[in-house]
Amino acid sequence: MKRIFTFLSILVLAALACSLPSVVVPASPTESAAPPAAAVKPVETQPTEAAAQPEVQNEAGAAVLYFTIGVHIEPMGETAQGYKSGGKGDYHNPQFFQRQVEDILKVAQIVEAHGGRMTIQAQSPFTSVAIQSGSTILADLAARGHEIALHFHEDAHLGKNSSALSVQQWCDVMKQEIALITQASGVTEVRYWSGGNLYPNVYEAAECAGLSVNSDWKNPQMQTTDLALVGVNPWRPAGGTDGTDFTLFTQHDPNGAIIFLPEGQYDKNNFASMRRSQDAGGDEAYFDYLAQSLYASLEAAQPGKVNVFHFTIHPGEFRGSPQAPFAVIENFLTEVVDPLVASGQVQWMTLSGMAEAYAASER
Ligand SMILES: [Zn+2]
Repeated sequence: MKRIFTFLSILVLAALACSLPSVVVPASPTESAAPPAAAVKPVETQPTEAAAQPEVQNEAGAAVLYFTIGVHIEPMGETAQGYKSGGKGDYHNPQFFQRQVEDILKVAQIVEAHGGRMTIQAQSPFTSVAIQSGSTILADLAARGHEIALHFHEDAHLGKNSSALSVQQWCDVMKQEIALITQASGVTEVRYWSGGNLYPNVYEAAECAGLSVNSDWKNPQMQTTDLALVGVNPWRPAGGTDGTDFTLFTQHDPNGAIIFLPEGQYDKNNFASMRRSQDAGGDEAYFDYLAQSLYASLEAAQPGKVNVFHFTIHPGEFRGSPQAPFAVIENFLTEVVDPLVASGQVQWMTLSGMAEAYAASER
């Protein structure tokens, strides 16, 4: 594995050092609809950003790829709205809650040791149990520079018939979930969410709830992502999708309220769920695929544009052996990400930080 990474790194570096013409990436519907790249202006740094001053291109004038890991905290156990999903664990069980807290903190420590910060996406009952039990996990992570955001499973907060509900009903319940995050973390501004993917009006509801950044679109029934949504350049979708029609979603609306961050240059429509399938070939093979996709994203990245790549983990996922917990994540950061950060090609950035950089590039 290491040898392949080294080889690919050398290829990428050689291509850049020789100023070879960059690889032409077929224009996606998104890109063709996007306005010409605006002049690059300095990007404001959020106080929560621990990373250095973000730059759209590095000193050599080459493209920069913003990178992070997102954490989805699932609605395990009865939610604040009284719905129960049939998962294995239950955050109302103190041992289970604590185990997941320790897993999140362990991964956060690994990421921090590599200079990174994550976007932790929470919902009830994790948030409500944290409040009731006095757990400071979300406040601690926020204080250490991680972004605290919303992961919204619509059926866990709105019931089975969520698609039939109004924008106002969605907005009200999203606000409830955001209020719990605020109370549990002390973070006053929650901007990013994932979830609600099959509700065509999800962007109106999210805007009403004060949210402005979205990503991680996958069909919750099929566990697949339409390849029209992959790529490295964010855009402002003209509307949502029902899971079949992506016309509005892939269309850039300069006045759109929501910035959508694609996950990167992935080439399989099940990239968001393949880690759980047998054909992924296990954790190592999955991280090999992530490395390939990261290198493909670097090739697709353009100087002067905001380019992004990220992937998602869940608490406890990829734990591996007790002797070396989360070694597959540690190895990926050491062998793949660190050299690219050192060379200036990759820069750690929370998801809202990426959106901020994109908004600045529009001005
Ligand atoms: Zn989820």
